Amino acid sequence: MSTFQRSYPPAEPPAGLAHWLYFCGDDLLLPQPDATPLWPGISEESHLAAASHRVYLGLLDGAPLLAAHVATDDVPAGWVRLGLRQAFARSDATLTALTSLAIQLLRWHATMRWCPSCAQALVPVDGTWGRECPQCRQSWYPPVSPAVIVLIHDGERLLLTTKPGWGRRYSLVAGFVEPGETFEACVVREVLEEVGVVVDEVCYQSGQSWPFPHQIMVGFTARYVSGEIAIDASELAHAAWFHRDALPELPQPYTIARRLIDGWLAGAR
Ligand SMILES: [Zn+2]
Repeated sequence: MSTFQRSYPPAEPPAGLAHWLYFCGDDLLLPQPDATPLWPGISEESHLAAASHRVYLGLLDGAPLLAAHVATDDVPAGWVRLGLRQAFARSDATLTALTSLAIQLLRWHATMRWCPSCAQALVPVDGTWGRECPQCRQSWYPPVSPAVIVLIHDGERLLLTTKPGWGRRYSLVAGFVEPGETFEACVVREVLEEVGVVVDEVCYQSGQSWPFPHQIMVGFTARYVSGEIAIDASELAHAAWFHRDALPELPQPYTIARRLIDGWLAGAR
């Protein structure tokens, strides 16, 4: 497991060898398909002359970690693009979190350039990742959108759902928190909207940064109280109860959905 020390407020990296994370669009760039770890190792200068929007994130195992963007036309011959989900499947928790931080800061710097109110060019807010408008004085910071994800159980069974295109895979109910809403109220509302049942005993378990584009998934368990399954057909293809000993195909181990399910199987009744 790597160790990471965030650089904040934003600063210039110390001189010397650095780790580099390159992205093309939302994909990670690798020097070869099976590269491990998921960056090209450490070097003094960027491996890629065309890299832009350089961001210094902090110290990874004592060496600076930088992220940079590479345009599609500038990807060197032989390098490959790896989708973020595939990257997460090949990373530990520390590296997954860093990849999520890196892509979100790169997107922020690349896109948040003009005032949404008056269209003036924005300038950095000292000592932060923020941008402010010199004319109307409004400021903005990298967005994080909370979404709940909830494991619904009745003690022995899980209520799992699947969506069009998921094949045989089933997962948990999830949805965005509405303005003015608490996490607990969001869990109760989303479960009722998506599968038509009432839950209580809403308990926070853990969270996961989910950069698609900038969610924080907030993971809960909740106990079934009443109601027959009635799915929201605009979102789901099917929902059903599954006994803990006869679960269907589940999400991959790097997802919070899977971690909530594995945690419940290991401990809860
Ligand atoms: Zn403005």
